Amino acid sequence: MIKVFEDFNFSRVGQMQSLLEAHGIRTFLKNEFGSSVVGELPFVEVIPQLFVLEEKDLGHAKELLSAEIAASQPGEDWTCSACGAEVDGHFAQCWKCGKAL
Ligand SMILES: [Zn+2]
Repeated sequence: MIKVFEDFNFSRVGQMQSLLEAHGIRTFLKNEFGSSVVGELPFVEVIPQLFVLEEKDLGHAKELLSAEIAASQPGEDWTCSACGAEVDGHFAQCWKCGKAL
């Protein structure tokens, strides 16, 4: 079993699991209910984690995940709604006034 992805946002991890399962990759989700026990366990123990069960699927899984992650990154430049500055798509915050996207 090899860990391929983890995120504090459980729905994000679930989304990645669906993606891999849709491509015939068998997966295992750890700490699925972790958020309910935050505070009782060390923080690191409760990050939802996605594993692939078989090592032969690892390369494929990583390809799918990195494509998915790249696709979800902001790529387009955006205009700040507060001050009207043009902000590079790599930034989630206005360089001029600090407002979040
Ligand atoms: Zn701004």
